[in-house]
Amino acid sequence: MTDWRERFPGVSEAEWRDWRWQHRHALRGAEDLARVVALSEEERRGLTVTRPLFRFGVTPYYASLMDREHACCPIRLQAIPRPEEARAAPGDLRDPLGEESHRPARAVVHKYRDRVLFLAGDTCSVYCRHCTRRRITGGEEGGFDREAVAEGVAYVRSHPEVRDVLVSGGDPLVLADERLEELLAALRAIPHVELLRVASRTPVTCPMRVTPALARLLRRFAPLFVVTHFNHLKECTAEAAEACALLVDAGVPVENQSVLLRGVNSTARNVRKLNEKLLTFRVRPYYLHQGDLAEGTGHLRTPLACGVGILEELRGRTSGLAIPHLAVDLPGGLGKVTLQPQYLLAPGDAPGPDGSGHWLRSFAGERAFYPDPPAADCSCPYDAVFYGENA
Ligand code: SF4
Repeated sequence: MTDWRERFPGVSEAEWRDWRWQHRHALRGAEDLARVVALSEEERRGLTVTRPLFRFGVTPYYASLMDREHACCPIRLQAIPRPEEARAAPGDLRDPLGEESHRPARAVVHKYRDRVLFLAGDTCSVYCRHCTRRRITGGEEGGFDREAVAEGVAYVRSHPEVRDVLVSGGDPLVLADERLEELLAALRAIPHVELLRVASRTPVTCPMRVTPALARLLRRFAPLFVVTHFNHLKECTAEAAEACALLVDAGVPVENQSVLLRGVNSTARNVRKLNEKLLTFRVRPYYLHQGDLAEGTGHLRTPLACGVGILEELRGRTSGLAIPHLAVDLPGGLGKVTLQPQYLLAPGDAPGPDGSGHWLRSFAGERAFYPDPPAADCSCPYDAVFYGENA
C-alpha cells in the first residue's frame, strides 16, 4: 500500500481513484515535486535545463511511489530529468528507429510488411525520461486530430497486407473511452485487420485508468492485446495488479515490454523479480528492450553485454515464461533483432564424434552433444496441399 494519503493530504479516496483527477493534478515542475520528495540538486538542475526540450509530467499516483529520500529510486530516475538529458550522447538520434522515412500518413508508421504502428495521440500520463518517441510525445507535432486519425484509418483500409495494428502514440489510453472506441471500431471494421494491439503505460503510471468499462470496451474488439511497460518491481503495486486483473478477467491478454535502463533495472535480480511478479499478475514478460538511441537518453542506456549477461543469469534459474526476448531495434529503421547468450559451441571448438551433430553448453556450463538425425530435409510435403503452391 502506498502512502499517498500522507503525501497528498486532503485528497479523497474517490478523487484518487479517478483517472481524470490524476491527469488534472499531474505534477508539472520542481515546486510540485518538492512537496512529495526531497529533490536533489541534480534533479532540480535537470528539471530546469530540460524544460525547453521535453515535456515533464507525473501523475500523483506515480509520484506516490517515489522514494522520498533517495534520488537513485527507479521511479525517480524514470520520471525526473537529469542534466545529462540535455546533452547528446555519441550516436543519439532524433528519430532513432528511422520511423519518419516509413510514415505514409501522419498517424501511421509502416515498417514491416504486415504490421503498422498507429499513432493515436501525443500525450501520456507520465513522460518517461527514456521515451524513444520523444519527438512526438514532446508535442512538437501538435497532436493527432480527427483528420489525421481518419487519414491513418484510410491508409490501413487501402493496404490489404496489413493484418496487425499496434495502436500507440503517446499513450492511447489517455483518450476518453468514446474517442478510443471510435478508433478501435474503425480499425476493427477493416476486414484484413486480424489483430489489434494497444500499447499503454497506464497500468503502471495511472492504473485507475483501467476501469471495468474500459476493460469491457477493449474486450469487444478481440483479438486485442494490451502491451504495457513495467520496468521495476516497485511499480507492481496493488493498484497495478488490480488494473491488470480487470483486463485479463475481461478476456484481454496483457504482455509487458520493459526497457533496460542503467541504474534502474540493469541487473539480473531486478529483471527476474519484476518478471516473476508480472506472471503472478497474469502478465507475460515479452520483450526486454535495449535502449534506443533517442536523444538525451544516453545516460540511461546500458552496454549490449549487460542485457546478454542478464539473460545468461536468468536461464535455468527462473521459469522460462519469466525470461523475455532481449530486443535491439536497429537504428535506421532496419527493424528489431534479438540477442541471447551463445549456447551452441563452435564446431572447431568441439567437433562431434563423427562430425554430424553439435556440442552445446548448459546454463551451468556443462557440455552436451546433440546428434543430427539421419535425414536433413525439413520441408513439409503437406504444405502444398494445405496452403496451395503459392501461399
Ligand atoms: S508512456 Fe510511452 S510514449 Fe509516453 S512518455 Fe512513456 S515511453 Fe514515451
